[in-house]
Amino acid sequence: MDNPVRLKLAVQKSGRLTDQSIDLLGRCGLKFSRGKDQLVGFGENMPLDLLFVRDDDIPDLVEEDVCDLGLVGLNVVEEKRLELAARGHAARFEILRTLDFGRCRLALAVPEEATWWSGPRSLDGRRIATTYPYLLARWLTEHSIQAEIVTLSGAVEIAPRLGRADAICDLVSTGSTLVANRLREVEVVLESHAVIVRTPLSLAAAKADWVERLLMRVDGVQQVRESKYIMLHAPRSALPAIRKLLPGSESPTIIPLEGGTDKVAVHAVCRENVFWETLEALKAAGASALLVLPVEKMLA
Ligand code: ATP
Ligand code: ZN
Repeated sequence: MDNPVRLKLAVQKSGRLTDQSIDLLGRCGLKFSRGKDQLVGFGENMPLDLLFVRDDDIPDLVEEDVCDLGLVGLNVVEEKRLELAARGHAARFEILRTLDFGRCRLALAVPEEATWWSGPRSLDGRRIATTYPYLLARWLTEHSIQAEIVTLSGAVEIAPRLGRADAICDLVSTGSTLVANRLREVEVVLESHAVIVRTPLSLAAAKADWVERLLMRVDGVQQVRESKYIMLHAPRSALPAIRKLLPGSESPTIIPLEGGTDKVAVHAVCRENVFWETLEALKAAGASALLVLPVEKMLA
């Protein structure tokens, strides 16, 4: 029986998104215990249960309202959206948040020695192997290219060597897999990252409240990952220059120092990483006693 109060969130069972998904939820305060089959994680301190599944199943689970939320790559979501559209069915899931992990791109690559490549048009009449036929087809249409799509379920990068395709369209992050397979990236079809998707159905008020709370915590977690708390001393006259140098900070707190000096203490939250170069520039502008601290939690 569906529990009207407990949210169900689908996450990848085992793969590239799993650790960071669990880490994110942990930082949002979720403690959970896994059932015997390891398929479900029962939230102990929030009305939120996790369903551990293959990433490809997540859009369907959300679209069919088996789960209220899903945490999955944009590439999987967009491929599903196009697949449903091709079957005359508008996808009804909604992307609620863009997450700061799972970054990769769906890219076209050709063999290193492919002398025929001189730009997208040279794909005309060629065979392209991929596990993302719908995203590739859309890109080909947008570029008015007629190519044959060879849909595979995996091991796309070896298709050219096996003579099954002239080019591939696959997910790339560092590009080392391409290099190892003597392939060269030539075009980006989709920039991707993990996202949170939501069911199309309206949620009971208690569930909707928890979705809002969870999203607010996700935003807080993502903001603090980059944020730093910076403290320094500076002569008042140096403040305009120093404020310009503080990366991504809105209004710093200025505190006079005891002892009749013209120096003040400046405290600011910087919403960007603070690099050594920034500290050196601040020092050159007159700052001293510089201290940079990580931010633990943030709620706007
Ligand atoms: P599953 O068994 O759940 O179907 P999978 O093998 O399809 O897993 P993974 O390789 O674990 O999937 O990738 C999951 C997601 O991680 C991808 O859909 C993509 O959004 C993201 N990702 C990030 N970097 C890469 C990369 N270099 N290669 C593949 N996926 C990546
Ligand atoms: Zn998958």
